[in-house]
Amino acid sequence: MNAPARDLYTTPRSDWTVAEIAALFALPFPELMFRAQSVHRAHFDPSQVQISQLLSIKTGGCPEDCGYCTQSVHNKTGLKATRLMEVEAVLAEARAAKESGVSRFCMGAAWRSPKDKDLDTVCAMVEGVKALGMETCVTLGMLTAGQATRLKESGLDYYNHNIDTSPEYYRHVITTRTFQDRLDTLEAVRTAGINVCCGGIVGMGESQSDRVGLIHALATLPVHPESVPINALVGTGTPAAETSPKLPHLDFVRTIAVARITMPKSMVRLSAGREDMSDEAQALCFMAGANSIFYGPRLLTTPNPVADSDRALFTKLGLSPMPLTEG
Ligand code: SF4
Repeated sequence: MNAPARDLYTTPRSDWTVAEIAALFALPFPELMFRAQSVHRAHFDPSQVQISQLLSIKTGGCPEDCGYCTQSVHNKTGLKATRLMEVEAVLAEARAAKESGVSRFCMGAAWRSPKDKDLDTVCAMVEGVKALGMETCVTLGMLTAGQATRLKESGLDYYNHNIDTSPEYYRHVITTRTFQDRLDTLEAVRTAGINVCCGGIVGMGESQSDRVGLIHALATLPVHPESVPINALVGTGTPAAETSPKLPHLDFVRTIAVARITMPKSMVRLSAGREDMSDEAQALCFMAGANSIFYGPRLLTTPNPVADSDRALFTKLGLSPMPLTEG
């Protein structure tokens, strides 16, 4: 595959073909990394990484059957379900996060979709976090257009809703909703004027062509998600984790690099699975164009490297937190 003209490195496109993305995945690793770095440097300072913190505001008891998720009632993981947190308790967590350098505060609730009464409480949380001067993100499941508008009015900056995997592999992972349901919520969020955070999970037993399909589905959305989280499966005790072979780190790095090349202006977020990675593997992810991480000890219910080890890694790699205005 010949190197493309320079403008292909820099201009966001939504007309990527499956063949083009498959060809990127198949590049020799050094060439793939060179291209990913070229794109990254055209749009971002490669020494800066945006830091988000994720708080589970309502854990477990979710009626959906996502095969990778410890919070599903269908997966016997022993996780104890909790009620929706009080607004003040959430704001106390947000204040502490801000003091440790976090610029975006994400709140996740394990729902198929929010009830309107619960949405009012979440909107109060969003308003409170915004008042602290932080960016806000929530993930609450499927939304109607009216609910998306209500969240926008509360000041919400980002809505996270992952497409999880390729359209073809989707039914092997989730049966209680369709790939199209995900796209419908993404459209409601985009129409409401909220930034989109949307990515997927790799290492769920999918093939490389499914990883091609995942990136193709993301990169051909009418507008690229502003934030693209790429997760490595953890989900201890879930059907996906019990039956899937571990994805080699280099395949994870390739997925990050192809996401970076195909969605040049998006923040590519290194998400779940980091605690399993060596410093060297994480460094490769940053070199492949990842420029956002979650900070703090837990990602919803998944262990995450503690803040101190993240700080030490940033120092070793010469990275610094991205200021809020560039996030
Ligand atoms: S991923 Fe979300 S929707 Fe699926 S089971 Fe977990 S909490 Fe529910």
